[in-house]
Amino acid sequence: MQVKGNALTLLKQNGYKVTKQRRDMLLYLSQFQHSYINVTAVDGHMRALYPGMSHNTIYRNIRAFAEIGIVEQRNRGEQATVKYQCDFEHPHHHHFICRNCGKVIELAMCPLDFFSKQIPDCEIDSHNFELYGLCGTCKQKLK
Ligand SMILES: [Zn+2]
Ligand SMILES: [Zn+2]
Ligand SMILES: [Zn+2]
Repeated sequence: MQVKGNALTLLKQNGYKVTKQRRDMLLYLSQFQHSYINVTAVDGHMRALYPGMSHNTIYRNIRAFAEIGIVEQRNRGEQATVKYQCDFEHPHHHHFICRNCGKVIELAMCPLDFFSKQIPDCEIDSHNFELYGLCGTCKQKLK
């Protein structure tokens, strides 16, 4: 199995060694490119593969992957979730998320410009934008 996208290049460019552990972690994460999983599931998977790997190391790697755009992180309340980058070409993007199956669909446009024009005297330094609903399959199924 190969690591998807240019994840390994990004690691190297940002000064991280491509260790066997990081590669295995990315292979596992790349199975979740269209839905979020709990960070605790990644932790569990890695500790089953490498019993000596500490929680700390696993969480630190996830944070590093998120910082350099290999994974997308999302926190809802206490739950930290993560998914593999859906678009290495456009790491900044937004999602539609299906309420029923959790499917994540990438949106082509960032609405930031639209809103920043409405408040020209303010400086926006972060934003969150997500759409929710039913994906095509769930919409059919639940009809
Ligand atoms: Zn995405
Ligand atoms: Zn769905
Ligand atoms: Zn945006």
